[in-house]
Amino acid sequence: MASIGFIGLGNMGGHMAHNLIKAGHSLKAFDLFDAAVETAVSRGATAAATAADAATDVDVLITMLPAGKHVRSVYVENDALIDVVNPGTLIIDSSTIDVQSARDVIANATAKGIDMIDAPVSGGVGGAEAGTLTFMCGGSDKAYARAKPFLDIMGKNVFHAGAGGNGQAAKICNNMLLGICMIGTSEAFNLADKLGLDAQTFFDISSTASGQNWSMTSYCPAPGPIPTSPANNDYQPGFAVDMMLKDLRLAQEAARSVDAATPLGKDSEEIYGKLSDDGHGGLDFSGVIKMLAGKL
Ligand code: NAD
Repeated sequence: MASIGFIGLGNMGGHMAHNLIKAGHSLKAFDLFDAAVETAVSRGATAAATAADAATDVDVLITMLPAGKHVRSVYVENDALIDVVNPGTLIIDSSTIDVQSARDVIANATAKGIDMIDAPVSGGVGGAEAGTLTFMCGGSDKAYARAKPFLDIMGKNVFHAGAGGNGQAAKICNNMLLGICMIGTSEAFNLADKLGLDAQTFFDISSTASGQNWSMTSYCPAPGPIPTSPANNDYQPGFAVDMMLKDLRLAQEAARSVDAATPLGKDSEEIYGKLSDDGHGGLDFSGVIKMLAGKL
């Protein structure tokens, strides 16, 4: 069994750490928020006094932090953990961050002979709790192979997307497509409604025709056709508008950095940005259908 340092025990990290403990690993937990550490301790973790403490003398160090600035702060700036860990420690950063920060931090680790991967996830808090997350990983073959057994405990689908940063690239490209598809699907349901087609009839036709997509068939933004979709629960998340907006902003930042044309990605960022600015950041992202219908 391995000794693991885990930093960032929030909505996602708390459950991920719990699954590693349940699998028999020993875990040192650190978070700036004391209550998050206390919860981890109640589940069998040891409290670390500092980030450096969590990173010292462990086989694996895992971080699950909000954004690129936190990851840079922990690894190469304030806490500078790249200088703290043993060279044999494997580092896994599962935070969703900008591609460039992921590449920079991994390059720093690699220069010191440390194996590190970026491994952002999809699957939400429910997936973190159930251990069914999807991991999208970037890094060397060796680092990925070392990480895989730990990712398999926390997730169901684990992909190696290539070099460092490619996990983040896969995640933001997928979520940009999801944002675009959700808006397009919402527009189609709203137009169908105004043209006198009820949602179920349009769904029955389009879900077996060429407009079919995941936003329609698994997460339908119109109430009715998919009983489990947030549309039937007053658009409670699910996946909140502000989280979609974060990923769309990361996608635009990445698109600008490589001069990629993403006009619909940009429109999607603006539409979700307006929804958030209007005070609906906590709504499920499929709630965009109400804004587009002029009902928010
Ligand atoms: P969260 O805000 O609940 O947890 C982040 C934790 O990091 C907090 O407990 C915070 O105190 C801690 N933290 C911040 N800076 C720190 C530092 N310097 N040192 C130690 N601890 C620090 O966020 P979350 O929902 O768990 O999400 C974590 C990451 O996973 C984000 O990048 C998010 O985009 C991504 N993600 C979240 C979801 C989701 O559904 N929540 C889904 C997929 C991906």
